[in-house]
Amino acid sequence: MEQHDVIIVGSGPGGSGCAKALRNQGVDVLVLERDALPRYKCCSAVLFGQTQVLLRKYFGKDAPDSVYCTNDKYIDAKDVREWDPVSGYKPYVWEIPKDGEVFPSIFQNVWRNSFDKWLLDESGAPWRDQTRVTGFTVDGDHVTVQAGDTAYRCRYLVGADGGASAVRRILRPAGSDPAGASVAILQSYFKLESLGKLKQGSWTVIFDKDIGEMLNCIHQKDDYLLLCVGGFRGRNLRESIEKLKALLAEKFDVRLGDKWRDEGCQLALAPPFLGEGRVLLTGEAAGHIYLNGEGISAAIDSGWRCGMAIAEGLKSGRDPLPVYESNCRDISAHIEKCLAQIHFLAV
Ligand SMILES: Cc1cc2nc3c(=O)[nH]c(=O)nc-3n(C[C@H](O)[C@H](O)[C@H](O)COP(=O)(O)OP(=O)(O)OC[C@H]3O[C@@H](n4cnc5c(N)ncnc54)[C@H](O)[C@@H]3O)c2cc1C
Repeated sequence: MEQHDVIIVGSGPGGSGCAKALRNQGVDVLVLERDALPRYKCCSAVLFGQTQVLLRKYFGKDAPDSVYCTNDKYIDAKDVREWDPVSGYKPYVWEIPKDGEVFPSIFQNVWRNSFDKWLLDESGAPWRDQTRVTGFTVDGDHVTVQAGDTAYRCRYLVGADGGASAVRRILRPAGSDPAGASVAILQSYFKLESLGKLKQGSWTVIFDKDIGEMLNCIHQKDDYLLLCVGGFRGRNLRESIEKLKALLAEKFDVRLGDKWRDEGCQLALAPPFLGEGRVLLTGEAAGHIYLNGEGISAAIDSGWRCGMAIAEGLKSGRDPLPVYESNCRDISAHIEKCLAQIHFLAV
């Protein structure tokens, strides 16, 4: 049976942050990814200021030109605005300082498939794609991980498998995880024929509960306009996209062509849970997401801290989980602060 010190489930920013910290410490790690890489992810794919700072801190570099949208590389925080049918435009605060640190206000507009693959390669960890982890068992000081017909063995397993984490569900089966509310999200990319009255390089968050309760927003991705809608259980999000299209045509003179693709996901408003024993969770699987929608920074940061705690645990023989939990307190506190300060629900 193939054996590694650490197996990471998921090759998003949480998995890559963790893999990078482990590889820097010389730990033997393998990343298992369900999808074929590079994979798409339901995301606006904007690197906010904190993400840029963390890339330099942990990966020693900025995202390369190859992952950016080409025509609309940057979004100035001043051009991120909210709009509602009664009062029109207002400034929208997407990111707030963390522990007194103010982040860059020029955001980077990227493609998630290229960005995530670049980050994974930068981690230096070997990976296997099209490998869905379906289960695991802990036996003494080892974990046996099942991916279809293949079994792997490791000393620590990291669930970096996103908001619908299978690893979290196995640790805390339905009913035992206080998952809280969840929002369904649908994003559709439409060929952009005319931006009409929308400003080039802008990002608009639409507060109209007739369209959806949360995260209704639009911004350009190369030749496409990305329409995103979100709603609580029971909302028909295809209808929401049609309503948003109609509003864009009527109020902003936007002209859209054919749809290129849809992406959907579930955003769980779950409290942080960092794992049990030899199985640790990181990124969105751990509940590390700033609920205005920014999650790449929280994932890279918690992934890195998870990897560092495991590397230290492997050297010292001490349990890494309490170290990881203690090192993540500032992330959890910032999540709470964002939740209290940022306005994102159209209800
Ligand atoms: C609509 C929307 C817009 C967003 N916009 C932004 C934004 O602009 N900027 C920002 O910073 N954040 C944004 N976010 C948040 C951000 O996308 C996530 O928080 C971030 O991707 C979380 O990273 P992660 O590594 O924890 O999980 P993910 O990026 O979800 O990665 C998890 C990986 O695990 C894999 N996986 C899942 N199950 C298995 C399995 N069983 N076996 C193997 N692999 C598995 C998945 O295929 C995936 O590759 C947005 C979120 C949403 C929903």
